[in-house]
Amino acid sequence: MAYVVTENCKDCLFTDCVEECPVSCFYVVEEDRMLYIHPDECIDCNACVPACPVEAIFAEADVPEDQQQYIELNAERSQCPEAVNITERRDPLPTAEEKRKRLGLA
Ligand code: SF4
Ligand code: SF4
Repeated sequence: MAYVVTENCKDCLFTDCVEECPVSCFYVVEEDRMLYIHPDECIDCNACVPACPVEAIFAEADVPEDQQQYIELNAERSQCPEAVNITERRDPLPTAEEKRKRLGLA
């Protein structure tokens, strides 16, 4: 099993999560405007979940029904040629606060 980044991350990229991860298994794909977790590297520690301000991260078993496609997507996109390992927090995307409001999590 592994943890999975889902739709709420898209257009946010707050990146608070990456500094919590003890095994540095977050990858950014700039054109996707979100992060992914490499499923073979994640050790299921749960540390990233409370760090995400938009509740984008779930244990694989808890991924909501309408977000199931993100399980495969994290596996694929974390290992695609454009994926870059990210371990340090950076500024969120300019669209982040607007998206957070839209999600009702501001
Ligand atoms: S903290 Fe949440 S929104 Fe920010 S990069 Fe991590 S998963 Fe995405
Ligand atoms: S559950 Fe732990 S190991 Fe997996 S991505 Fe989150 S912080 Fe990293």
